[in-house]
Amino acid sequence: MRKQYRQAVNALLAAERIVLAGHVNPDGDTLGCVLAMAHVLRRLGKDVTAISTDGVPDNLRWLPGAELIVRGTERRDFDLAVACDAGALERVGRSVIAAIQSAPQLLNIDHHIPDGVFGDILIVDSAAAATAELIWQLILKLSARSNKALADKDVAVCLMTGLITDTGSFRFMNVTPNTFLLAARLQRLGALPAPIAELVFENRSCASVKLLGRALDSLKLSHDGRVAWSQITAQDFDDLNATDSETEGIVNHVRSIQGVDVGILFREVPGQKVRISLRARDGADVNRIANAFGGGGHRLAAGCSVTPPLKGVEEAVVAEALRQLDARG
Ligand code: AMP
Ligand code: MN
Ligand code: MN
Repeated sequence: MRKQYRQAVNALLAAERIVLAGHVNPDGDTLGCVLAMAHVLRRLGKDVTAISTDGVPDNLRWLPGAELIVRGTERRDFDLAVACDAGALERVGRSVIAAIQSAPQLLNIDHHIPDGVFGDILIVDSAAAATAELIWQLILKLSARSNKALADKDVAVCLMTGLITDTGSFRFMNVTPNTFLLAARLQRLGALPAPIAELVFENRSCASVKLLGRALDSLKLSHDGRVAWSQITAQDFDDLNATDSETEGIVNHVRSIQGVDVGILFREVPGQKVRISLRARDGADVNRIANAFGGGGHRLAAGCSVTPPLKGVEEAVVAEALRQLDARG
């Protein structure tokens, strides 16, 4: 990986106009990484365009530099593009791909299980708990090469947000000693985990908590008790005037049931495909289930989008989950 970091540092220092992009339905890791890079590159005097095709969700508006984020650009004069936490090129958003691909070089920095390789320089490590861990390594190397301490409190808050989001406040199986070592360094820079965790997880809209109620009301369990699933219908979204970003975290409640290996949340998002979030306990692999429906992610957290109707989708995905659990024994 040393060579890849060296290539990335060279490309970033050589470029003047840099476009950064996160993934659709952005979370704290993708936005934290895009913004941390934006802060660092601006400090290096670069012309930075930071794109999140779906903007910044309400619960992450407080991220330092959130106002820098744009939803797209007509510019095609970039020297370098950087995709952060994307998983696959399409996940930067259909209307952003052209801007990203117009740059002569693309740096892909990510911790997803690769779903088709993309990019010219790859810093891809699925052992990292969050892309924030990889961005930190990159910032360290950029600091060393440019002889500047590039990480300040804003950068630290952005990266701590990525860690806290993707580890569920340091509780998930993806946490390693490196995660805690980085968290300690970020806290020393002024990023306090408690207020960030509160802003990320306890800053919900009223509609979002009511959606949780609807989801839990619909909860079903497979005969063997190993798969649990819930749904949020178009009617639920309509009744509560809610959006899909307000369903964040609900799937964790579905997985939290004793004996459940796979928890699934189906959302009939008005005017869109059925969106599906899958979560596993250690031992199961929901990335493979999502793969069967054209999606992806990680072993323990994955997602996909499938053509309606909801009922048929539900039956097919639950059947696939059971089939994979049975095959594994
Ligand atoms: P979510 O359930 O939306 O929080 O997503 C969980 C994980 O799965 C994240 O790492 C996403 O990047 C990934 N993921 C979600 N939806 C998709 C999709 N349609 N295609 C590929 N990966 C996805
Ligand atoms: Mn993400
Ligand atoms: Mn991530």
